Amino acid sequence: MALIVQKFGGTSVGSIERIEQVAEKVQKFRENGDDIVVVVSAMSGETNRLIGLAKQISEQPVPRELDVMVSTGEQVTIALLAMALIKRGVPAVSYTGNQVRILTDSSFTKARILQIDDQKLRADLKAGRVVVVAGFQGVDEHGNITTLGRGGSDTTGVALAAALKADECQIYTDVDGVYTTDPRVVPKAQRLDKITFEEMLEMASLGSKVLQIRSVEFAGKYNVPLRVLHSFQEGPGTLITTDEEESMEQPIISGIAFNRDEAKLTIRGVPDNPGVAFKILGPISAANIEVDMIVQNIAHDNTTDFTFTVHRNDYLSAMRVLENTAREIGAREVIGDTDIAKVSIVGVGMRSHAGVASRMFEALAKEGINIQMISTSEIKVSVVIEEKYLELAVRALHTAFELDAPARQGE
Ligand code: ASP
Ligand code: MG
Repeated sequence: MALIVQKFGGTSVGSIERIEQVAEKVQKFRENGDDIVVVVSAMSGETNRLIGLAKQISEQPVPRELDVMVSTGEQVTIALLAMALIKRGVPAVSYTGNQVRILTDSSFTKARILQIDDQKLRADLKAGRVVVVAGFQGVDEHGNITTLGRGGSDTTGVALAAALKADECQIYTDVDGVYTTDPRVVPKAQRLDKITFEEMLEMASLGSKVLQIRSVEFAGKYNVPLRVLHSFQEGPGTLITTDEEESMEQPIISGIAFNRDEAKLTIRGVPDNPGVAFKILGPISAANIEVDMIVQNIAHDNTTDFTFTVHRNDYLSAMRVLENTAREIGAREVIGDTDIAKVSIVGVGMRSHAGVASRMFEALAKEGINIQMISTSEIKVSVVIEEKYLELAVRALHTAFELDAPARQGE
């Protein structure tokens, strides 16, 4: 008998009919003798709808109140799924994050899980009940409702699996696994049987939307076996694991990730003294804005240019902070650009192969695509390009790194 945490995303619970289908699926596992904890998202589109309501009141809604509101989406689906299970004769009970006591910090709209009380869940499982838990939400030490950031139900699923030491955390979604890249952009993208936590982390952090990044971090840290599967189609899905396969066939690049969510800020003519990077980025991080890529030019005339990227949602706040800093340190000007995109090649195979980056640059050059920024890590090379070339870039790289699926008959 296994203990399995199953997480169903928004499209999987997007209608009553689908919720009934999910209930049937859970019932089958239950009848198999497995203990099941289910985590659900809000019905697809619901979280966006709720945020839209808030934005009619204020462009930047008060985060605490936003969390009170958006957490209701998940509260609806847990109850519906529990009802659908009970209707089928499967004992079930639903809980909000607060009821479980998924304790988080107080960073509204992007809270971190600190601790999960597993007492109640274990008691329910022992009594033979399926437990249905609201994803994406928790409660802080003062009893305020918090949410974990968009897509946060994945993290709830993995965190529960870690807390309960579950045998597997299954993430059911509207795709049948993790692909070499987004099949909507590259129709020849292929499903991966396996990917390492490290690679998945890069893919997720670079905008591959299959899993929320924090859930992958969590899973890697606590070694939670994680599997991405299609909600309503049979198939093995993609297993996310620790071991790197020592296979001759192992491709150098596992996938190509991309991201339209970033914006670029440049501060020009900065007096080049020790501590300048800290003076520029200190206030940005104090404003709780995450910085992604950073480039500082070699100084000339005792001044330097400094460019970095942030999430587009943080662009305006980052711009305000940077303009202040520019005045304080006597920089010449601040400029920004939101029409950018980031494209990255990811693969643990890069560690043992030379020339991967130049192969990437060659493929982009052939398409006449200008590279604005470059950054690398052990298993990734990323470039920032003009947004309008994004799809072309991804397709070119997918072909250049031999990731295209073989043509099927008749194609
Ligand atoms: N409902 C939340 C969102 O749309 C959380 C989730 O789906 O995981 O971001
Ligand atoms: Mg989601």
